[in-house]
Amino acid sequence: MQSLKELYKIGIGPSSSHTIGPERIAEFVLEKYPDSSFKVVLYGSLSLTGKGHGTDRVLKKVLGEKTEIIFDNSVAIKELPHPNTLDVFVYKDGTQINKIRASSVGGGSIKIDGVEFKESARVYKHSTFSDIKKYVNEKSIRLCDYVYQTEPDIKDYLMQIWSVMKNSVESGLKKSGTLPGGLNVAKKAKYIYESTDIFVRDSLLRNKLTCAYALAVAEENADNGTIVTAPTCGASGVLPAVLYYAYKNEHVSEQVIIDALATAGLIGNIVKTNASISGAECGCQAEIGTACSMAAAGIGEIYSLSVDQIECAAEVAMEHNLGLTCDPVLGLVQVPCIERNTMAAMRAFDSFCVAYYLAPMRKIPFDVIVKTMYETGKDLNHKYLETARGGIAKHYKINQKD
Ligand code: SF4
Repeated sequence: MQSLKELYKIGIGPSSSHTIGPERIAEFVLEKYPDSSFKVVLYGSLSLTGKGHGTDRVLKKVLGEKTEIIFDNSVAIKELPHPNTLDVFVYKDGTQINKIRASSVGGGSIKIDGVEFKESARVYKHSTFSDIKKYVNEKSIRLCDYVYQTEPDIKDYLMQIWSVMKNSVESGLKKSGTLPGGLNVAKKAKYIYESTDIFVRDSLLRNKLTCAYALAVAEENADNGTIVTAPTCGASGVLPAVLYYAYKNEHVSEQVIIDALATAGLIGNIVKTNASISGAECGCQAEIGTACSMAAAGIGEIYSLSVDQIECAAEVAMEHNLGLTCDPVLGLVQVPCIERNTMAAMRAFDSFCVAYYLAPMRKIPFDVIVKTMYETGKDLNHKYLETARGGIAKHYKINQKD
């Protein structure tokens, strides 16, 4: 598995696969061919939802406003190396001098034909939860300690990540108005946060606050704000919501929050390595489902659950997101994406609760559910793989109440 620095990335929303990844590809190309002009052809999900996700905007920002962007829907997704594939044609004095094929493979990670990135190097010697569990049990250490042993300098980076997550919650809570893109979706985080509490029970108050925090980050993402991929932009509100609740409302220390980020990162990394965190590849279960597992494991770390209980929390969280389709209306990361972050944040607490009590009685290993998610994703009809051709994207009428 790669460094957690490759999982948690600070970037501009709304989509890690459609904005952060293509931006990195464009920066790579520009560095290699500084005095050139470019044409970019987008395929698959990049073509079908690239407009709504802002792919053309970021490519032109890096490669120049005159760059021609072509949305090519003529190639079937199954014929592409990855559903998010693009070609960059490089020109010098009007003559084509190169063609670079690249893919944005999820969470802002990229692959470029013929290029080895040093940050993609394998850092962790284990790649499955069962192997990591065996190791930490033998050494009598916690999952976060395994991260610190493997990446001794990671704490400073995680503190930076936490700082951006905190800012995205606090910034989103202050805003009102509507989101850009044409759907006229209202920003709701501030509204729900400032609403009078009708709830008297702690768990319901926690739901309200967790929803507000998840909305705040997801709305920042949809508004092209700065967020952390956790594991992606579309699902960026889930983990910060539960961590911010623990920090702000349960007064958990920042040191413990960093431990939770480390453990949650391990879960995200296992999914990224053995399956996919890309909605274009495996549907929303790969984004929101993974974020939910990461958040459930993070809460488990905060409350010092055992390794078995943390595994169970992550497994339950993913299990009950299986089959979740990706169907963003107008190709924007707004409906249903933003609200999905709230649901997953609440589900993370529920998964933690189930695991706390029932871990010894439950049988499904996390690795099995990761494999199941991947196979389910591969079996999903392409309509549900970030193409905006099925599900809510097909049936929702613009200006309907969301
Ligand atoms: S539906 Fe899920 S996977 Fe698809 S764009 Fe929205 S958050 Fe991402």
